Amino acid sequence: MDKVQIKDKSFRKHIFCDAIHEKVLKVADRINEDYKKKNPVFVVVLNGAFMFASDLLKKVNVACEIAFVKVASYEGTKSTGSVKSLIGLNHNINNREVVIIEDIVDTGETIVALLDQLSRQSPSQIKIATLLFKPKAYTKDAPIDYVAMEVGNEFLVGYGLDYDGFGRNLEDIYIVD
Ligand code: 5GP
Ligand code: MG
Repeated sequence: MDKVQIKDKSFRKHIFCDAIHEKVLKVADRINEDYKKKNPVFVVVLNGAFMFASDLLKKVNVACEIAFVKVASYEGTKSTGSVKSLIGLNHNINNREVVIIEDIVDTGETIVALLDQLSRQSPSQIKIATLLFKPKAYTKDAPIDYVAMEVGNEFLVGYGLDYDGFGRNLEDIYIVD
């Protein structure tokens, strides 16, 4: 399937699943090294990060806990600039080492809002792991600690990322045609 049609838009295959898995494995290796003998809490950002988190965490071999939050900032293919918290964190992260797991960091609005929200619970550290990073769109200063792949500013779907709710199940990543 080299092309997919989702609603009004046509997408072509851009990053193949084998390449994705290779990059995800590299992030897992780094996390395993950095969190050796530590007990991090991974905070997965729903919905988009579910597939990345699932593949990544299967390869993480340190004793860890996994929690979820749900936020929304995108409508269609554009960031709205305001970040809505749809499901809050139901996990004590006080004094814990936290790793946020995101699907994609674009302008950085979402990640900075999340950092703000989570730091209020006084974790000892917060790091960020993202499948995709759009460096040219990023407007914030917060360091993105683990990036599986850097991409351009084009809109992507697949491997957890949606267009208007569809396309999350695709095992490869597609770019708008
Ligand atoms: P930011 O707040 O950094 O601008 O955007 C982050 C969120 O916007 C991501 O978590 C993701 O949900 C959504 N997003 C950003 N870029 C894309 C993209 O290319 N495709 C899709 N499907 N979602 C994106
Ligand atoms: Mg996201």
